[in-house]
Amino acid sequence: MGMNTDYLVVGGGASGLAFADSLLAEADVAVTLVDRRGIPGGHWQQVYPFVRLHTPSAFYGVNSLALGDDRIDQTGENAGFYERATGEDVREYFARVAERLTRTGRFHLLLRHEHLGGGPDGERVRDLATGEVHDIGVRRKVVDARYLEASIPATHIPPFEVAPSARVVPVNDLPEITRPRALYAVLGSGKTAVDACFWLLDNGVEPDRIRWIRPRDAWFHDRRHFQPLDQVAGIMEGLALDAEAGALASSIGDLADRLENTGRLVRVDPSWSTTMYRGTMLSSRELDAVRQIKDVLRLGRVRRIEADRILLDRGEAAVRPEVVHIDCAALGLNNAPGTPIFQPDRIVLQQVRHLSPCFNAALIAFVEAHRDEDADKNRLCPPNPYPSSIEDWPGMVTRTWRAESRWPREPDLSAWVAGSRLNLLRDLPEHAAEPAAQAAVERFVRHVPTAIERLGGLSALPAGLQTPGQH
Ligand SMILES: Cc1cc2nc3c(=O)[nH]c(=O)nc-3n(C[C@H](O)[C@H](O)[C@H](O)COP(=O)(O)OP(=O)(O)OC[C@H]3O[C@@H](n4cnc5c(N)ncnc54)[C@H](O)[C@@H]3O)c2cc1C
Repeated sequence: MGMNTDYLVVGGGASGLAFADSLLAEADVAVTLVDRRGIPGGHWQQVYPFVRLHTPSAFYGVNSLALGDDRIDQTGENAGFYERATGEDVREYFARVAERLTRTGRFHLLLRHEHLGGGPDGERVRDLATGEVHDIGVRRKVVDARYLEASIPATHIPPFEVAPSARVVPVNDLPEITRPRALYAVLGSGKTAVDACFWLLDNGVEPDRIRWIRPRDAWFHDRRHFQPLDQVAGIMEGLALDAEAGALASSIGDLADRLENTGRLVRVDPSWSTTMYRGTMLSSRELDAVRQIKDVLRLGRVRRIEADRILLDRGEAAVRPEVVHIDCAALGLNNAPGTPIFQPDRIVLQQVRHLSPCFNAALIAFVEAHRDEDADKNRLCPPNPYPSSIEDWPGMVTRTWRAESRWPREPDLSAWVAGSRLNLLRDLPEHAAEPAAQAAVERFVRHVPTAIERLGGLSALPAGLQTPGQH
């Protein structure tokens, strides 16, 4: 093939595309993007049919192209909030993004190609159609946009055994297998399991025909705190609640209580010990709906499903033979350990500001284009691993606040952040005079220094995450 490029981006999901889009806008470079899949968009190609973004479309995708029309939904579980794209919307959007990038003449998309790693003659990629292996000469950097590759029910290997007589399907098949009077058991604790339960209820399945098998109980954010644009004061209020809870908390339990008491975090069952936290969000309507399901099995992780019983970590339960098990137990976000984002010859895309994956990929590209030294780039973009449990919350938010505290001293970076459509706080200056926004900013500024100090005592910083100049 004999191809050369400045940057080789490995992974054509939201992260790889948001990085490529931002880099091509900021630097006169050539970018080649390689992905195993036949279509750009990453895991969105195989999501369950009734999925939607859990965040508003307004700050998802790439920096140069809006996703959706920023409409406020009038009905349904998202009523009153900004629209959230469906899986199909997201797939179409990323196809358009890839087309637009290709039209720059500086972007080359290599689909159905697998990156194998570096070799003596360049980066090795295998054409999955022919099996041939080619070398790509990379003049600047390889960009690892798959380090945090999501695990989804359609492609993961279920971490439990299934007897031949048992009925288990991935959540993707749910609309096809729904039958009148059927019984369902939803496996999983996170947002996908909530979506499956909500979808069943929304499609007329009575709550008593659903069993929910939850290995852990999960914390969620209330979606009202993630509404941008004209409702941006709500985002600021959420951040102020984080800072206030962080400044006053004496333990992880106390922190969780404070976040729950102010409505910042919600959970399906407040009477039950809740440990999981993946940074996903729900509306109060979704929460009220799934709370109708009373048959909840909490015996730890599923080990084996048989026709008439299910075996779990801490016991077993009888299963009626007609029950269909819906697998929603994939990991979702990958909580791989943090590693420096800028390395010699390599960029490893990771979270910097929490819960903003597209913003982060675009931010990292901006910094790559406008800073020379890796130490400086890593100072501005320290890695911030995805959370798995509420214990990860203090470290996650303080890493965000520390990173963000360095940006105002960098005028070009601040200007880029202020103007980026991927920045969920973009419209705050426009609404800064509103009393709610003013009060939230004041509360945030008052509490955040103490919160950083105090939360530091509640979280052990994972090895390798301390960056020079951290304060
Ligand atoms: C169901 C779901 C809903 C989500 N909703 C939201 C949301 O509403 N808002 C939000 O901000 N975030 C959301 N997220 C989180 C995150 O933004 C998305 O998952 C995002 O699309 C992740 O993109 P990615 O590029 O990091 O990973 P992926 O989409 O997993 O893409 C990685 C790509 O790398 C490719 N790849 C891996 N290894 C190789 C190799 N060796 N060679 C070539 N290609 C390779 C894979 O084929 C894949 O296409 C959601 C996540 C999930 C799972």
